[in-house]
Amino acid sequence: MFKIDPEKCLHCGGCVPVCPTDALELFEAGLTCDEERCVYCGDCVLFCPVKALELELEYQV
Ligand code: SF4
Ligand code: SF4
Repeated sequence: MFKIDPEKCLHCGGCVPVCPTDALELFEAGLTCDEERCVYCGDCVLFCPVKALELELEYQV
């Protein structure tokens, strides 16, 4: 599951071009992630300078 913390996000847009699948989009209201496109690579999470993004991986046993 992909999580965006709207209180931390500065709307800098820096993470948008980092995403290899174009899952991130920045609107006036904030950043969105299209989870149908996201491959959970974590690149944007590592990139974000204020740690506004988080990935929660769920494993099925
Ligand atoms: S890099 Fe971080 S602060 Fe900038 S738009 Fe992305 S989530 Fe927000
Ligand atoms: S985790 Fe990877 S695929 Fe998903 S939004 Fe971030 S950069 Fe894009």
